[in-house]
Amino acid sequence: MHEKCYRLRCWGLLLLVGLGPVLPAASALRSAPNLIVILTDDQGYADVGFNGCRDIPTPNLDRIARAGVRFTNGYVSYPVCGPSRAGLMTGRYQQRFGFRTNPSVDPHNASVGIPLDETTLAEALDQAGYACAAIGKWHLGSHPTQHPLARGFDEFVGFLTGGHQYFPDDLVLNDLSEVTRQWGWYRTRLLHNHRRITIDKYLTDALSDAAVDFIDRNHRQPFFLYLAYNAPHTPLQATEETLQRVKHIPEGKRRVYGAMICSVDDGVGRILASLEDHEIVSNTLVFFLSDNGGSLRGGSTNGSSNAPLRDGKGSVYEGGIRVPFAAQWPETLPAGVDYESPVISLDIFATITALAGVAPSTDHPLDGVNLIPHLTGANPAPPHDILFWRQNNDGFAARLHETKLVRNGPEEHTLCFDLAADVGEASPIPHSKRPADTAELQFRFDRWNTSLKDAAFPGLGKVPWWNRNNP
Ligand code: CA
Repeated sequence: MHEKCYRLRCWGLLLLVGLGPVLPAASALRSAPNLIVILTDDQGYADVGFNGCRDIPTPNLDRIARAGVRFTNGYVSYPVCGPSRAGLMTGRYQQRFGFRTNPSVDPHNASVGIPLDETTLAEALDQAGYACAAIGKWHLGSHPTQHPLARGFDEFVGFLTGGHQYFPDDLVLNDLSEVTRQWGWYRTRLLHNHRRITIDKYLTDALSDAAVDFIDRNHRQPFFLYLAYNAPHTPLQATEETLQRVKHIPEGKRRVYGAMICSVDDGVGRILASLEDHEIVSNTLVFFLSDNGGSLRGGSTNGSSNAPLRDGKGSVYEGGIRVPFAAQWPETLPAGVDYESPVISLDIFATITALAGVAPSTDHPLDGVNLIPHLTGANPAPPHDILFWRQNNDGFAARLHETKLVRNGPEEHTLCFDLAADVGEASPIPHSKRPADTAELQFRFDRWNTSLKDAAFPGLGKVPWWNRNNP
């Protein structure tokens, strides 16, 4: 596989620069960085040290921000797991292809996932010769045609659905075919590619093991590691050792949540150490972000904090969509810098494919942009002038510079906020005093909204296929 990838990479570069039979210099082959995307699940904006968290220690996540850039206005494209991941994985607003809600778990329905005519980040980087691994939570479809190995990844260790039990003794089902009730998929054994495997440790630690193992085997060639921890999503389950580290937090959800983040942080520390051991820190671009805001209500409430932002997971107020977000690439990016212009998870795709020389699709244009010129100061303009969010229930938000329009669900009024003066969205601007660009915001959102596709598949829990297994 590695030789094949290397040849593909040479060929892609040759096509790019039109050099004919002359092979590019070895240094050119290493010019594009490795990419690591570390995604956490339902971690609150306030729950990293680099955003001011005091009770949960995250020294390794903080190292990323200190060695690179902290995004103070870093967004995801949807306030829950599945659609947010579909946007990250395609660099496009996921509603453009009908990915409007958390996907149903339905291994019999090929339409549940990212449409096959869309290009995933792994499929794009495969063209450039990257070795690609997905580790952890997938949540982008469970039909065989939507398996990570069918969507551009060379390796997969994890689970296809939207959450999982953390302790190995609870992983008792051999396959989704053995699921007999809703949420039973949290108890399947892990997949290594298409094969079920048994793990002998806490899930977050097992995923970190797999990530380090992948780096150990692939550090001599360009690689893309997509490490999607399901922590600190519910169920709230932590090891005794990490619980001891947060025993200063009063007993309750937040203590366990904090301990779960400690396990993530430990894993991030091991990954950063692995980059140092293999002397590839300087040429590895590492992004860290959460897939949506901390969960404050409903079954996934986890004791998180999005302060000072309003609301959380599921909401298009800032607490649902603005997330802890940082990146390091020592070779190119400045260190210890706050970048305050809005960026969005969709930018990761555009950034790495630009660096790797992968031409963007003309019929599926990206919504993200290459952040590098903006982060180095080569381009002083903000990456985006406007960003959009649309809930599946017709709520929406749009941000133009510092002005935000938001209707958090169909029952709410459309409110306007000046985020520069009111990041907590506490004091809506009266209609009579709205800035002149409000009308432009509404017009541009409405125009964008008409370009979106209807839902391509049913939402989570809407297809009780598991009843077939429950006589
Ligand atoms: Ca999530």
